[in-house]
Amino acid sequence: MSRYWSPIVRELVPYVPGEQPKIKDLIKLNTNEHPLGPSPKVIGAIKAELNDSLRLYPDPNSDALKSVIADYHKVTPSQVFVGNGSDEVLAHIFFGLFQHGQPLLYPDVTYSFYPVYCGLYQIEGQAVPLDDDFVLRVEDYRQPNGGVIFPNPNAPTGRLLPLSDIETLLQHNTDSVVVVDEAYIDFGGETAIKLIDRYPNLLVTQTLSKSRSLAGLRVGFAVGHADLIDALERVKNSFNSYPVDRLALAGAVAAFEDEAWFKSACDYVIAERERVATGLESLGFDVIPSAANFVLARHPDHKGADLAAALRQRSIIVRHFQKPRIGDFLRITIGSEAQNAALLDALPDIV
Ligand code: PMP
Repeated sequence: MSRYWSPIVRELVPYVPGEQPKIKDLIKLNTNEHPLGPSPKVIGAIKAELNDSLRLYPDPNSDALKSVIADYHKVTPSQVFVGNGSDEVLAHIFFGLFQHGQPLLYPDVTYSFYPVYCGLYQIEGQAVPLDDDFVLRVEDYRQPNGGVIFPNPNAPTGRLLPLSDIETLLQHNTDSVVVVDEAYIDFGGETAIKLIDRYPNLLVTQTLSKSRSLAGLRVGFAVGHADLIDALERVKNSFNSYPVDRLALAGAVAAFEDEAWFKSACDYVIAERERVATGLESLGFDVIPSAANFVLARHPDHKGADLAAALRQRSIIVRHFQKPRIGDFLRITIGSEAQNAALLDALPDIV
C-alpha cells in the first residue's frame, strides 16, 4: 500500500492464477491446460510469421481471425469480437455491458475472476447459490439484475447446464445481458452460439487456451448480436488497439483450420477424463460429473488441503481452493495418459 495508489486500487482483491512452477518434471494438473501440444499446423503458421513483418503492427481488427471464427460458428464477422485471452474479452464485457447500477448475478461456486472484475469496474456482484449438487437452478435468476454470467460447463465444478435451461433463463431475462462463458464447452457440451440470432442479449465467450491447446498464445473471443459486439469494440478501442499480436493471429487462424487435430485432441481428453473419474471413484472419491477438461473430487476421509499437499510431495500439483463449499475438493486437470496414470498410482498410498 502506498499513498500514491488510487482509491480503487487500494480496495482491489486481485485474481490469483494457478501456480506455473519453475521446477521441471512436476506433473502439472492445476491450470486446465491441454496435455497435448497444439496442432503442428499452428506451429508452422507461427514460424511462417516470424519475419521482418514483425516490425509492423498487427491488424487492429483481427479481420482474418474473425472471419474464420465466423465461418466455423456460422455467424457473420460483425457478430465476433476477439481479444487477448477470454479473460480480456470478459473484462471488456464487464466494463461495457454490466455497468448498470443493478447487481450482476453469478453462481456462488464459479470462476473466481468474476468478483475480481466486479471490484475493478465497481460493479455490485451477487452470488446465487447452486443447489446441493452444484447444479445451477435457472429459476433463481428470475430477479432484477444488471447482467448474468456463468461458465458452461461451470468451473471449477465441471457441471454442464443443458441448452434448454439456458434458453429458459434467457426467456426470463430480456432486459440485461446474459453471458455464457464457454471456456470448456468443447469437452462435451453444446454451444449456445446457435441461440444468438433469437436472443439479442446473449453473448457467448470461448477461448483457444483449452481445447485448442494454446494457453500460451492468449486468444479468446465472444459471439453475439452485432450491437453487443459494437460495445466491446468501443471499449477495446479505448484501451488497446492491438490486443492480438501477429504471431497469435497467425496461430489462431491456423488452429481453426485444423479440425482433424481439434477433434482428436478433444476426444483424447474426454476419454482420459472418464478413465480418471472411474479411477478416483474406485479409490473412494466423490467425483462431480464433468463435461470439462478437469474433475472436481473429494475424499470423505481427507481434507482437500492435505490431499493437495501430499500429492505435491509426490511432484503432482492440482488446484485446491480454500473457499466455502469446495474447500474439501480438489480440481484435477485431465493430463496425458502417463500423467493421469501417475496420479492414480500415487493416490492409494495417500488415501
Ligand atoms: N473462463 C473460465 C471459466 C476459465 O476457467 C478461464 C481460464 N482460467 C477463462 C475464462 C480464461 O481463459 P483465457 O483467458 O486463457 O482465455
